[in-house]
Amino acid sequence: MSIAENIQAAQRRIRQAQSRSSSPPKEVRLMAVTKTVEPQRINEAIAAGINLIGENRVQELLAKYDRLHLDGVEVHLIGHLQRNKVKYIIDKVDMIQSVDSLALAEEIERRAAVCQKVMPVLVEVHMGNEESKFGVEPQDLPDLLKQMALLPHIAVRGLMTVPPPCPDHEQAKKLFSQFYALFLDIRAQNLHNISMEICSMGMSGDFEAAVEEGSNLIRLGTALFGARNYQPIKGE
Ligand SMILES: *Cc1c(COP(=O)(O)O)cnc(C)c1O
Repeated sequence: MSIAENIQAAQRRIRQAQSRSSSPPKEVRLMAVTKTVEPQRINEAIAAGINLIGENRVQELLAKYDRLHLDGVEVHLIGHLQRNKVKYIIDKVDMIQSVDSLALAEEIERRAAVCQKVMPVLVEVHMGNEESKFGVEPQDLPDLLKQMALLPHIAVRGLMTVPPPCPDHEQAKKLFSQFYALFLDIRAQNLHNISMEICSMGMSGDFEAAVEEGSNLIRLGTALFGARNYQPIKGE
């Protein structure tokens, strides 16, 4: 199947998941996750209607950036971000979805202030028991948000999570519903300077469960581009 056909199939599956949900999100944004994908194929996805792409690694984004046809396309950083790399992407991305510490938020604040911009961010939350994953623990989220609210060049727009791979659909749904409950809880608190519009959860293996449980931004790599081939992307 072509990338365009994969996009159409994913959109159909999103709509079907919405129709199964008791309280479906009105609009579900589809992000194409482009790690390890060649610029030419990313541009093919953009030509087929993708208007949101996500990259994990700063270096890879920089290596591909000039070859991407980004007119009308949002670029989000979705991978773990080291503080010393913020300066390289602050003027290149439209959102950072993977903020999980105050130290990182403060560095984004500093760099955004220099560029005279306000950087939209999501806070990455750690769900499930796996130890190795990134993200703030749910119990630490309210404190982090209160401190981030004080940073004038950061706009918190919601939450993101990458739960451990879960072969069992019902188990995946349970984690997603816990995450969505957390999202709603924070939203109900109406924290000053914090908006909860974006609930970013769901990847190729579990996006239907995520949509059924309230996700309004799903991040698809494999489902659009096929299995990843972990070769470094060469510069020009
Ligand atoms: C790689 C990645 C995805 C996409 O994963 P697939 O299973 O290929 O859809 C989504 N979100 C994040 C944060 C990722 O690193």
